[in-house]
Amino acid sequence: MTKTIVILGAGLAGLPLAHHLVSRTAPNHPDLRIVLVSPHTHFYWGLASVRFVLPTSEHSIPEDRYLFPIESQFAGYPHSASQFEFVAGAAKQLHPDQNTVTVALNDGTERQVVYHTLVVATGTSYVDGAPWKALGSAEETRAAIADLRTKIASASSIVVAGAGATGVEFAGELGAAYSKSGKKKITLLSTDVLPLEPRLKESVRQTAKKELEKLGVEYIGNARVVSSSTPPSTSSGKKEITITVTSGGKETSKTLTADLLIPTYGAKPNTSFAPSSLLSPSSPGRLLQDTTLRMPSHRNIFVLGDAGALEPPQAVYADRQVRHLMTHFSSYLLSGTVAPYIVDPKVMYGVTFGPSRGVGQMGGFQIPSLLIWWIKGRYLGTDRAGNWPAVGSTNGAWPK
Ligand SMILES: Cc1cc2nc3c(=O)[nH]c(=O)nc-3n(C[C@H](O)[C@H](O)[C@H](O)COP(=O)(O)OP(=O)(O)OC[C@H]3O[C@@H](n4cnc5c(N)ncnc54)[C@H](O)[C@@H]3O)c2cc1C
Repeated sequence: MTKTIVILGAGLAGLPLAHHLVSRTAPNHPDLRIVLVSPHTHFYWGLASVRFVLPTSEHSIPEDRYLFPIESQFAGYPHSASQFEFVAGAAKQLHPDQNTVTVALNDGTERQVVYHTLVVATGTSYVDGAPWKALGSAEETRAAIADLRTKIASASSIVVAGAGATGVEFAGELGAAYSKSGKKKITLLSTDVLPLEPRLKESVRQTAKKELEKLGVEYIGNARVVSSSTPPSTSSGKKEITITVTSGGKETSKTLTADLLIPTYGAKPNTSFAPSSLLSPSSPGRLLQDTTLRMPSHRNIFVLGDAGALEPPQAVYADRQVRHLMTHFSSYLLSGTVAPYIVDPKVMYGVTFGPSRGVGQMGGFQIPSLLIWWIKGRYLGTDRAGNWPAVGSTNGAWPK
């Protein structure tokens, strides 16, 4: 009997798994059928979005380095015609007890897909339709990039709200391109005293603050946006952004004036199609995921990458999880068993401040700027992005 493996999501986790199953597993399992479901018809390298949303720069990145059509990638595999299907649509409702998922197709219709095994790899999205991650469809992502470029081009002052990795990297790109040379005023707001996450060493976070300030970015810590409006009386169209700043236990209100306010916080897991019983109680919106990378309650549902609650939402962990599943998928098919995935609590982190500088952390050690520039900052991965779906992070080393 045919075993249908349905993969939801064609991002950094879902797409390499689909490649692996079609090219390596399907030839040994003629009863296997792989269905890849994604509303985004292109693989999107959002990791470089902080740079390519800038209107023009000497480091600008062409679209064919960050958007790659998905379906045609499978045409070369001998088994793809009979054992693979790409479905352009988004999971709308999962029925885990019936082994079915309702998919809202991009053409406006719906389809019920029955699975033997489901892999959920639907990742996260950002608030306000920001193109840091793939939006609903490739057209929507393209439109959001174009819109942001236009707004950045015409703004002389920009406030970036949120100083996680995305906010820091984006402020760094804006700083390197504009505030360092006095072309635009760039402000970065953080709800914490320092940028980046508290799980990082304080020295790494201090370095991030200093590097941004060297680029002319004004950093305001302990700050929270309360409201933003464009008063009708303002002929310039500038926004008035009210923030609260906490210092010495005292909260004060402050108003910033800027042409543009860009939020970079609030990444939300794309899991609204799943019943709430499958959600983690400790990690809002993320799905339960045990160390076999499965749902504890449903042994035929795997969860990979940012949608799962097991590890922080980073590509390094998505990559490790995918490798683990690739290694153990045949054993799962044969006997239903999957060896435990070992969670490595070691911090692996790297952020850039424009094309020339960066900082990182590996375990308890701070990684110097030059190394982060070499590994990440020069191209933000766009030199390897096109190869990622087929070979992953280590060029050619997906497990057999
Ligand atoms: C600016 C930026 C820089 C980053 N830099 C780094 C870095 O240097 N190192 C690092 O380790 N991590 C980095 N990350 C994090 C990294 O991008 C994520 O961890 C990674 O993309 C997670 O992969 P994923 O496949 O789980 O999810 P995603 O890449 O988000 O892919 C999800 C896929 O699911 C699809 N989808 C969404 N909803 C549905 C649905 N309902 N049905 C079907 N499909 C759906 C989407 O279209 C998409 O194709 C960065 C993130 C950002 C935003």
